[in-house]
Amino acid sequence: MEAPEFKDFAKSMVDYIANYLENIRDRPVLPSVTPGYLRPLIPENAPDKPENWTDVMADIERVIMPGVTHWHSPRFHAYFPTANSYPAIVADMLSGAIACIGFTWIASPACTELEVVMLDWLGKMIGLPEEFLACSGGKAGGVIQGTASEATLVALLGAKAKTIQRVKAEHPDWDDNTIVSKLIAYSSNQAHSSVERAGLLGGVRMRSLKADDNLQLRGETLEEAIKKDLDEGLIPFYAVATLGTTNTCAFDRLDELGPVGNRHNVWIHVDAAYAGSAFICPEYRPLMKGIETADSFNFNPHKWMLVNFDCSAMWLKDPNWVVNAFNVDPLYLKHDQQGSAPDYRHWQIPLGRRFRALKLWFVLRLYGVENLQTHIRRHIGFANQFEESCKKDERFEIFSKVQMGLVCFRLKGANEISEALLKRINGRGKIHLVPSKVNDTYFLRMAVCSRFTRPEDMDISWNEVSEAATEVLKEQKK
Ligand code: PLP
Repeated sequence: MEAPEFKDFAKSMVDYIANYLENIRDRPVLPSVTPGYLRPLIPENAPDKPENWTDVMADIERVIMPGVTHWHSPRFHAYFPTANSYPAIVADMLSGAIACIGFTWIASPACTELEVVMLDWLGKMIGLPEEFLACSGGKAGGVIQGTASEATLVALLGAKAKTIQRVKAEHPDWDDNTIVSKLIAYSSNQAHSSVERAGLLGGVRMRSLKADDNLQLRGETLEEAIKKDLDEGLIPFYAVATLGTTNTCAFDRLDELGPVGNRHNVWIHVDAAYAGSAFICPEYRPLMKGIETADSFNFNPHKWMLVNFDCSAMWLKDPNWVVNAFNVDPLYLKHDQQGSAPDYRHWQIPLGRRFRALKLWFVLRLYGVENLQTHIRRHIGFANQFEESCKKDERFEIFSKVQMGLVCFRLKGANEISEALLKRINGRGKIHLVPSKVNDTYFLRMAVCSRFTRPEDMDISWNEVSEAATEVLKEQKK
């Protein structure tokens, strides 16, 4: 394809994208296809001769859209949001054009340098203490990871390297294997599954600690577990505090966990994957009280801050533990400026990395902090609107304190009734929700996800839930 044709194709795609997004609420949120739907719709082999781009465009509606779940529809309330905005989409076009692989500073200096500055901008926006920021002049700084799962694993590996070095100094006769076999990490039983996975991938034991009645992990629970493990000869080294759990958006008590971790040489990693975006609003920052005690902090602008996937922001007070843990230095990756700017290949698991800071830069400049704050506050307002509707209807109960843009609710009574409700809601196909279960109680999660959502959309979603409940309860009586 040559440039003139590219220009026509890309312009046509921009029109298509804008029409798709602006009219997304009119599409059924969930596809009705069955597995294997796609193969018969396209040829068995790649074409030998080039096709026309207009034929490709035509196939988007025929082949792709019937199998798309529309995450940006105001009718989509499953999981947590994933972000989407025009500035981020345009930035990804430019990133695709530059198409550099910014693993070292020299591999594309702008790619590294914009990332360093954007992570400072973002860190200041959410009120992170100076000790996390590159502009503080110390060793700290931020990095864009692909996902929160990677950030949790990277932090765990940094903590592991740090602890091995400390324990070796105390016990010069112990080898690495002996030390690793004694390492023990902690998280709440409400932590995301990626935390348990980080333990598996990092080759260490992970202890799941019981959250309290408010589903928050408390300092005394961590303290007790650490003391018990120390008595048994284990080496506590890493704990994850979740700010905004996936089940119910509960906030672990970082203000209690942090000091416990600091006292016992336990690295504190904060996973604020979804809720962290809300810290751009000063009124939500009390929920990150104790942040100064953490060693690493992570949240996903790609969830709730209008930066398209993937953009998971992570800050480390002392990145050297991670950098040294991952440092392999072949000659072909060396350069003359080594040491004067971060070589981000040492901060992450893969070598290759895209120019992701561009979309952060575009979004921050083209929305401004105030409009991003408005976005967060609107979503929280919509969750409160749904909560009010739920509370006014005696058939329902709110399962846990409504936090951020998530409402956890259920029909009063046995789990089976709420299970039937969810099946009915998703079966009707107008809105899409997923459930969760905590302490054997099943509930539905209503997450506000779309940036296109308006108050009347929330009424439509509530009416849908209410009508489905009427049908389910009528059938129960039969
Ligand atoms: N941590 C929490 C609290 C989450 O809610 C999620 C996903 O929703 C994750 C981690 C995993 O995020 P990612 O897909 O970026 O790895």
